Amino acid sequence: MTAKIIDGKALATKVRNEVSKAVLELNKKGITPGLATVIVGNDAASSIYVTNKGKSAKEVGIKSLQYSLAESVSENELLKLINELNLNKDVDGILVQLPLPKQINSEVILDSIKPSKDVDGFNIFNAGNIYLNREGVIPCTPLGCLIMLRSIQKSLKGMNAVIIGRSNIVGKPMAQLLLNEDCTVTTVHSKSNNIQRIVKEADIIIAAVGIPNLVKASWVKKGAIVIDVGINRINYKDKTKLVGDVDFKEVQALASYITPVPGGVGPMTIACLLMNTVFQCSRKNNLSLPENLKNLY
Ligand code: NAD
Repeated sequence: MTAKIIDGKALATKVRNEVSKAVLELNKKGITPGLATVIVGNDAASSIYVTNKGKSAKEVGIKSLQYSLAESVSENELLKLINELNLNKDVDGILVQLPLPKQINSEVILDSIKPSKDVDGFNIFNAGNIYLNREGVIPCTPLGCLIMLRSIQKSLKGMNAVIIGRSNIVGKPMAQLLLNEDCTVTTVHSKSNNIQRIVKEADIIIAAVGIPNLVKASWVKKGAIVIDVGINRINYKDKTKLVGDVDFKEVQALASYITPVPGGVGPMTIACLLMNTVFQCSRKNNLSLPENLKNLY
């Protein structure tokens, strides 16, 4: 068996096209959604992410406001900017790129973003909505994974899903989303015993760890669906190469579907950020989410 590839790039293009249509509908009502991105410091990878997010926003008709602060900025100065953005009528979504420098407490910053302008779904209020299975903004990466799964499988009901990793931004919300989809969900993490045995039982594997090529063919049941969230930079033939948490070459021979790195979950994350911006903008204007996007949530 050779696994079919779930093409994140192609699927993300489809999602972005749906977002563009939704933005055009809002434009007809005199509304233009706005996304503010905030970056602190000069981390090269973060800068690329933020630039790409701003560029993608503009491409779908979302107004992009970008704020770049010095590495040495104080927590209070950053809080001041977020408060201004919370009050700014042109801003529907605020994204603060993580990680933040040591002098700044990320929790304080994420909590300071108004829940109605949180487009990452990291705010405590929005996290609560997922846990209660209520409508709300969903963290971009897990939402992207869910859309990928739905693109190949109409119903996930009863499937055995194993999430590797329990971070607040990927593993935990992913587990909850799949529980909401009626999967049987197990989360394994750095302190788990018998990880390989547990993963081997999975119909769906979500790898969100940050260890290159961790998941080997021997971990995977024949026919499993494998979603690789990991983005790891490794040195390969004197160059830097991006690889996931799954040993793609080995696992492709066993799985039924697999996501590549790059070109898998990454592009979906950005597409979902744009969707969340439209979601928050619609809510602010007392409009229900456009039908074409509703189907994707
Ligand atoms: P994190 O470091 O916050 O969490 C990693 C998790 O993996 C932890 O819960 C830890 O318990 C678990 N873990 C560590 N070692 C393990 C082991 N040996 N076996 C099992 N579990 C183990 O990371 P994160 O923010 O969740 O990101 C995970 C990966 O996903 C990273 O490579 C990151 O770059 C990538 N990522 C990609 C996207 C995307 O858009 N594609 C978005 C977010 C994160």
